[in-house]
Amino acid sequence: METISVIVPCYNEEESIPHFYEETRKELLKIEHTNYEFIFVNDGSSDQTIHEIKLLTLQDPCCHYLSFSRNFGKESAMFAGLQRASGDYCVIMDADLQHPPTLLKDMYHVLKYENYDCAAGKRMDRTGEGGMRNFLSKQFYKVISALTKMDMSDGSGDFRMMRRVVVDAILEMKEYNRYMKGIFSFVGFDTKWLEFHNVERVAGQTKWSLKSLFAYAFEGILSFSTKPLLLAGIVGMLLFALSTILGLSIVVRLCLQESISASFYLLTALVFLSSLQMIFVSILGQYISKDYLENKKRPIYIIKESDNA
Ligand code: UDP
Ligand code: MG
Repeated sequence: METISVIVPCYNEEESIPHFYEETRKELLKIEHTNYEFIFVNDGSSDQTIHEIKLLTLQDPCCHYLSFSRNFGKESAMFAGLQRASGDYCVIMDADLQHPPTLLKDMYHVLKYENYDCAAGKRMDRTGEGGMRNFLSKQFYKVISALTKMDMSDGSGDFRMMRRVVVDAILEMKEYNRYMKGIFSFVGFDTKWLEFHNVERVAGQTKWSLKSLFAYAFEGILSFSTKPLLLAGIVGMLLFALSTILGLSIVVRLCLQESISASFYLLTALVFLSSLQMIFVSILGQYISKDYLENKKRPIYIIKESDNA
């Protein structure tokens, strides 16, 4: 029998976890000829999350957990969970029931009978979210898609069921600066999108502040695009063109025996030198960018305890 692994990053989700488990297990049992396993990843919660998870592992041998030594972020939790999962299919789900478990059966059928490698949830709306956050998120996805030329559309989150082969590919990406949406897009494979409506979280609060969303946005752009570094090069080229025009005007005015002020010479020289600087900064940036991602060989997470220690 095939196994479906459900990976659940949890950060201060003590209230959501029991609901999540009940609802999700109910749906998993409806999927014929499969076993399930839950991998809860406690991402350094400061509430009773780990207690709730341990209760589940006591009552259901198909529940497993990892617990981080501190909060490493959802990206690290997802990576750790995928590493631990042993299923033929893996699905990543938020603990707050914002990812409807009713979709699991459809996802499984897409992978099993429709020859896709990946069945991904696509949130159709942002009901219940603030207008400002909604607007900024939309703009961000436009910018990042243009900069990276990868499909990272708004609404395509981390809720997706994948075949083992996709999971193995994702695990091969061992970079420290992890941006899962980019990684999904980078590894490729055939993906079918299944639409769902946004629902409010079952309990607790969102872990995202506007500040952390901005940080996440920058992470996404820096991890998957080096285009911002080209900006220096473009500005450098423009300054170079300007200095050429200024230089030519000096030559023409000298030929016409017009007088030229010392400050005009100075300005031309300054623009010229700045343009060279900008161009070389941009070239340097391109070299550094190649090394940038891979050089930070810090551990992606540190496990404090897990149930198979
Ligand atoms: N999460 C996590 N570590 C973090 C932040 C969030 O593991 O540092 C988990 C959280 O417990 C939830 C999921 O990631 O299961 C999504 O978080 P949240 O619901 O706060 O995000 P939102 O749905 O508001 O985008
Ligand atoms: Mg949520």
